[in-house]
Amino acid sequence: MQVKKAIFLDKDGTLIPNIPYNVDPDKIHLESGVVEGLKLLVQQGFDLYVVTNQSGIAKGYFSEDDIFVVRDALKQLFEINGLPPFKAFYFCPHHPNGIVSRLACTCNCRKPMPGLLQMAAFDHQLSLTHSWMIGDILNDIEAGNRAGCKSVLINNGNETLWESGPYRTPYSIASDFLNAAESIVSHLTNEQHGYGNIGYSTAI
Ligand SMILES: [Mg+2]
Ligand SMILES: [Zn+2]
Repeated sequence: MQVKKAIFLDKDGTLIPNIPYNVDPDKIHLESGVVEGLKLLVQQGFDLYVVTNQSGIAKGYFSEDDIFVVRDALKQLFEINGLPPFKAFYFCPHHPNGIVSRLACTCNCRKPMPGLLQMAAFDHQLSLTHSWMIGDILNDIEAGNRAGCKSVLINNGNETLWESGPYRTPYSIASDFLNAAESIVSHLTNEQHGYGNIGYSTAI
């Protein structure tokens, strides 16, 4: 059976602009390079999964239904841009300081923890070692690396703390989404030619 491999996509600041706690579908559009980058990745046989922290639910700022509206708006943007649909949309509704009591907890699915990726892998029989995480902050990188994926950071200014840690080194750092996708494709090409990632990795 062929290996099923995923690209795990952070949403805010990666696929769409980072507007904290926004659930207004009219404010959602794809960031530059996303359409071109996703097309490259789909050509390489990856399926797409969205993995997003939505602590605004635990904090009582919006409901799960509001997130489904966002998910559907994103789905529509993929469709009108000729992209295949993402296979699933996983979100963490929790936050330890939330006011919605059933969601006010420490969980294993809020990035930097890997729970959302592990859930996707379980539900869809994905090979995590063949999968990648793309995000705009090091918490995305940590979640991807903890899950056993490789992870690419888009350095668009959203990461400001650069807190280091054992899982917080990206495979590469990209200037935008297209550049992130190209870095993954280069890795695969080098691997096919037996070079590993020697001479390409721009990891810090
Ligand atoms: Mg983000
Ligand atoms: Zn969670």
